[in-house]
Amino acid sequence: MQLPETGTLGDRRRPLQCVASGYLTDGCSCSARVPAAVAIAAWQRELERESPKDGAHDGFFNFAWRGGRWLAYGLPGGQVRGVYCPAHRSEREQRLGYDPELALAV
Ligand SMILES: [Zn+2]
Repeated sequence: MQLPETGTLGDRRRPLQCVASGYLTDGCSCSARVPAAVAIAAWQRELERESPKDGAHDGFFNFAWRGGRWLAYGLPGGQVRGVYCPAHRSEREQRLGYDPELALAV
């Protein structure tokens, strides 16, 4: 009998940490975190809206948590890889010069 090494992200108890650590903040890690379940629930709602048939869809999406708008990258099937806290989300948007929501709408 084996314990499962890999589960869905929804089973994870650890929060997702803002991935904007290091290269945007002079080497300091960003300590902002959001519960994985919050990001995953938001992505699953997005998936149902964008591709209700098979969930085969990935891309950046925004979600609100504790009064801020976070950015995350969702994978097909409902997993989430990487989150940006509200501060780094706006920093990233300014750096890239576009609104990810507009990019998603193509
Ligand atoms: Zn951050």
